[in-house]
Amino acid sequence: MKKIIFFSCLYLAGLANLKAQQAPANLLLLNNYTYTSKHRLVGEIHSANSVQDKSGFILKGQNAKFFHIRKNNQLFIRKNAASSDAQWFDLTVSSLTGESSYFRIVNNRFINNKVIAHRGSWKNTKSPENSIASLQHAILQGCEGSEFDVHMSVDSVLYINHDPKIQGVEIETVSSDNLSKILLSNSEVLPTLRAYLEEGLKQNRTKLILEIKSSVISKERSLALTEKVLQLVREIKAQAWITYISFDYDILKRVLEVDPFAKVAYLGGEKNPASLAADKFYGLDYNYAIFQNKVNWIKEAHANNLTVNAWTVNDPKIMDWMLANKLDFITTNEPELLLKKVGEKLADK
Ligand code: MG
Repeated sequence: MKKIIFFSCLYLAGLANLKAQQAPANLLLLNNYTYTSKHRLVGEIHSANSVQDKSGFILKGQNAKFFHIRKNNQLFIRKNAASSDAQWFDLTVSSLTGESSYFRIVNNRFINNKVIAHRGSWKNTKSPENSIASLQHAILQGCEGSEFDVHMSVDSVLYINHDPKIQGVEIETVSSDNLSKILLSNSEVLPTLRAYLEEGLKQNRTKLILEIKSSVISKERSLALTEKVLQLVREIKAQAWITYISFDYDILKRVLEVDPFAKVAYLGGEKNPASLAADKFYGLDYNYAIFQNKVNWIKEAHANNLTVNAWTVNDPKIMDWMLANKLDFITTNEPELLLKKVGEKLADK
C-alpha cells in the first residue's frame, strides 16, 4: 500500500511538473513578430498567464525608442526605424505586474515563392540531408522555407536528423557528449537545433520549417521535446522565422498551449480543414496525393484562413498541378526545378 501511495505521489508530482512547464511564468507573447516600412503594426502583446489581457505594458532596452504601444496593446514600430536597413530590432516588453519577455522584431523581407526545401537543399548540392550546409544552400537559392527534423537526446539536447537513429545510434537513448562526436558525410558535426537555428537567424529571407518528431519511447518524451523546442525558440528569439509541423497532433496542440500564436501545420493528412481551423492551426501540410484526391480541401482551407502545403513534390508534372491549384507552399527535394518553374510562371503574367 505504501508503495502504491509513493508511486502515486511520484506520478502526481510528474503531472504537476508537466503542467507547470505548459505556461512558463512571467511570459509575454506577441501574435506577430514582423513589420515592413508600409505595415508598421507589429502585433498585439498578450500575457500568457492571465485570462484577461491587461493594459500597462512597458518597452525597455536600447531599441525601446523605436517602438510604441497603442490601444488594445498593439505594438507599432516608428516610421524611421521601419524604413531603415535594419534586419531586426531586439525589444524587451514588461508588464506592470512583473512579467517580462524579449523579442526579435524582424524586417519582413521573407520570400514568397512557395518553395520549401525538404531537409534543406541537399540533393543537387551534394550536401547531407538536414545538415547546416543544406540549410545554407536553401537560403542561398532563395527558397521561401527550409524544412528540418528535430529529435532529443537522453539528456534533453535537441538534434537535427530525419530518422530516430543516425549511423546506428538511437538519438533518444544516447547523451549529447556522444552525439556531438558524430560527423556527417561532409565532416560537419551532427547539428544541434541551437546551431541550426542560429545559422537560420543570420538572415531574414528564408523561413525555418521545424518538424518535431515523435519520441519512439513515450508520449511524455514527445511533449517534453516539444517544450524544450519552444523554450529554445524563445531564448534565441526565433519566433518570426518558424512554422512548426508534426505528424503527432498532441505535439502540435502542446505547441499551441504554450504559444497560442505559433504557426502550426499538421502533416497527418486525415483531418479536414474545418477541424484544423477549429483548433487554431495555421495550415495543412499533407502528402500531395491527398490534395489531388480531395481538391475541394484546398478551397476549404483557404476559406478557413489556413495555408496549404504539399509534400514531397519532386515530379515536374505534379509541381505544375500544385502551382495551377494555388497551393501556398510546395515541399520538394528539387528546389532548383521548382524555383525555375515559379520564376517562369511569374514571367508569363
Ligand atoms: Mg521532415
